[in-house]
Amino acid sequence: MQLDSKVAVVTGAASGLGAAIARAFIREGARVGIADINLAAAEAFAAELRTSGGQAMALQMDVTDEVQVEQGVGRVAEAFGGIDILVSNAGFQHLDAIADVSFANWKRILAVHLDGGFLTTRACLRHMYRQGRGGAIILMGSVHSKEASVSKGPYVVAKHGLLGLCRTVAKEGAAHGVRANLICPGYVRTPLVETQIPELAERMGISDAQLISEVMLRTTVDGEFTSDTDIADVAVFLAAFPSAALTGQSINVSHGWNMG
Ligand code: NAD
Repeated sequence: MQLDSKVAVVTGAASGLGAAIARAFIREGARVGIADINLAAAEAFAAELRTSGGQAMALQMDVTDEVQVEQGVGRVAEAFGGIDILVSNAGFQHLDAIADVSFANWKRILAVHLDGGFLTTRACLRHMYRQGRGGAIILMGSVHSKEASVSKGPYVVAKHGLLGLCRTVAKEGAAHGVRANLICPGYVRTPLVETQIPELAERMGISDAQLISEVMLRTTVDGEFTSDTDIADVAVFLAAFPSAALTGQSINVSHGWNMG
């Protein structure tokens, strides 16, 4: 068990990548706070994890709400005995060209990804620093932390911003034994991607199949989607890594899409 007795908070854990990561963390012996804006889904998932013997608690958390973040992280620390790992993963996609995007949509996507990344990181760092037993901050970036695609401007900007947060936390956290790393997935068929396939295909005037092969997966090495378990395996690896040899890094998990 690579995460035996560790305590983790995973945001956006009721669906997609967050759920896969939470499941893998439980398998590796961690106790996990299942934080999501969708409380009913978080509760159902936490109950399922407990039924199979895991230690999981559901948290109502909109990551843009400072009070909910502070209280949610505090509840996990109190119930499970501190905080060792954060996976700041909550997110959504919004499709619009920069010339068309409303200011409200721009601000909302930056808020969920960047304010959410900051607030959850700050809350967990304070526990980690106080506890004095180190920790791992894992931020969910994207290949869009390193390159752009049309119609995804606010998302691309937000994901680039998380690279800066990761690198800063790596430097500041080092004195406290806290590492910070960014996972940069390629396309994974979660609800986030399933909803954007028809929308983007329609905008581009092509079929869903063309969008997948000629746009989404065009520059992978093998034309394959990344899987949620690929991402979960990397999250376990980063969470369990024993030293600061691996900090401040951004790791593409994308079938070779973007090698930077
Ligand atoms: P998903 O839609 O399956 O899950 C996202 C979860 O985040 C949902 O449970 C949702 O309720 C929650 N959420 C949304 N806004 C929230 C908020 N304000 N506070 C708390 N929870 C909130 O999506 P996913 O594909 O699993 O995406 C997870 C993360 O991975 C996102 O940050 C996304 O940008 C990133 N990512 C996904 C892909 C992909 O291909 N799926 C690729 C690169 C990066």
